[in-house]
Amino acid sequence: MMKRLLALLAVLLALAPVPAVAWGEYAHRQTASIAEANVSPEVRAKIRALLARQKDLATPDCPLGTLQDAAVWPDCLRGEGWRWGYTFAWHYRTAPVCKAFDPRANCAGGNCVTAQIQRAQRVLADERLPTHERLEALAFMVHFAGDVHMPLHSGDNEDQGGNARKADYGIKPGLNLHSIWDGPLAERAISDPADPVVRRYTPAERAELAGGSPDDWGRESWEIARSFVYPTAFDTENLCDGTLPEKTALSQEDIVRGVPIARQRVLQSGLRIARLLEEAFQPGPLVPDEPRRRRN
Ligand SMILES: [Zn+2]
Repeated sequence: MMKRLLALLAVLLALAPVPAVAWGEYAHRQTASIAEANVSPEVRAKIRALLARQKDLATPDCPLGTLQDAAVWPDCLRGEGWRWGYTFAWHYRTAPVCKAFDPRANCAGGNCVTAQIQRAQRVLADERLPTHERLEALAFMVHFAGDVHMPLHSGDNEDQGGNARKADYGIKPGLNLHSIWDGPLAERAISDPADPVVRRYTPAERAELAGGSPDDWGRESWEIARSFVYPTAFDTENLCDGTLPEKTALSQEDIVRGVPIARQRVLQSGLRIARLLEEAFQPGPLVPDEPRRRRN
């Protein structure tokens, strides 16, 4: 009897609905927790000092008191388009998975995720700038360094990064491909209590996981979208011959194969955020000033 009850409980737990928000609140918050566990105490103190000034940003509906809050703050701003609408294009840099990758495309005026990570890091590093600007930059940097790791913030197949492809997630209907990778898949990937993602990583692990530049991370995501996300979701090896259906379903097997990939992206993101933070709070300029070119 007890065994059967436990089995039933396990089934019910597996079926419990998971919140489906953007690389969901949960995944973003976890990247911040990974980062926080892997920066030096000095950097943690500097972060705390900035966050203590959250009132200066005047976003009472979007709290910014912890690094975890910072990781979701830019998504929270979507409710205030009149004030923050100019930042809404900064969350992604999608490129078609059926064309050659062009590292210079889709970032007009620096309005894309990879450029904004770099801009935010530079603002954060500059102690001459007003605190509220640096705090804002902290939140943008932490959040966008998460977004860029979600494959469908980089890969697109004429469907707004999978948003326009309806998809079932196992037996759960009514999602789309983007929301699956944002929400339930990412959450399942980082929710194994026997193997927690938030911990202090060894220098060797960090060396392996935290490398590259924002452009590299976007390219990795695009590659995963092209070689895994779309082919798996649509059971096709010839992704680019003909058009994809508007609707699909991820089988249990697809989900199980996706889990380690989604998990890896969250880990990389957390440790790379830690690196961005360490670099930003190091004394001295991040990048030498480019020679100014005159333009008329
Ligand atoms: Zn975002």
